[in-house]
Amino acid sequence: MIKTVNLTKRFRTDEIETTALNNVSIEVKPGEFVAVMGPSGCGKSTLLNILGMLDNPTDGAYLFDGTDVSKYREGKRTQYRKGNIQFVFQSFNLIDELNVYENVELPLLYLKISSSKRKEMVMDILDRMKIGHRKKHFPQQLSGGQQQRVAIARAVVPNPKLILADEPTGNLDSKNGIEVMNLLTELNKQGTTIIMVSHSQRDAAFSHRVINLFDGQVVTEEVARQAVAV
Ligand code: ADP
Ligand code: MG
Repeated sequence: MIKTVNLTKRFRTDEIETTALNNVSIEVKPGEFVAVMGPSGCGKSTLLNILGMLDNPTDGAYLFDGTDVSKYREGKRTQYRKGNIQFVFQSFNLIDELNVYENVELPLLYLKISSSKRKEMVMDILDRMKIGHRKKHFPQQLSGGQQQRVAIARAVVPNPKLILADEPTGNLDSKNGIEVMNLLTELNKQGTTIIMVSHSQRDAAFSHRVINLFDGQVVTEEVARQAVAV
């Protein structure tokens, strides 16, 4: 489903060049739940943003279902992303002016789904995320755990092939964090492929497989342990 070949990303600000990703080659199969781990600044978010087609690599190939999408321009990336990929962020990223129902409905509006079908899909996912009773509430009236459940509902409602989660429990206490991980696990069991960035061993334990990044490169688990120990 996903394959990267020597993916490299360099950022240039003023005179300083940073290599955020250095020849990253990974594969993720449909139905997998993969955790990407590594210390702060090692390139996790950069990798997720490229896999989510928010940005292009400087070099290398990114194959999504066999199509090299690494050189698509922004408009084409957005188009491709809409039906295929959804994000969950640490900061929830809900729209404050919209209530729970309206936040979750948004991706369906972009996909031009009819209003009766939208209602059915939104209510179904809100119930599955145990947040249906809060549908008229606004984000600031909810706890962090509830907000992340809404964000997950919004990600999953258009039935994407891939969910990318960047530190999804980073702003949550332990109880809510475990609840969010249980929901992601549930979605994965129902068939959604998930790639999650985390620096939490607890969260990684919910995944099938861990990819360790260090200084922009994929490293073995042993190397990653030594790197953390230094
Ligand atoms: P992580 O998510 O693992 O903490 P990031 O992917 O955010 O790491 O960052 C990797 C490296 O790339 C860091 O050195 C960071 O400062 C740099 N970087 C990330 N995004 C940008 C950007 N938009 N412009 C310049 N440098 C960036
Ligand atoms: Mg990050």
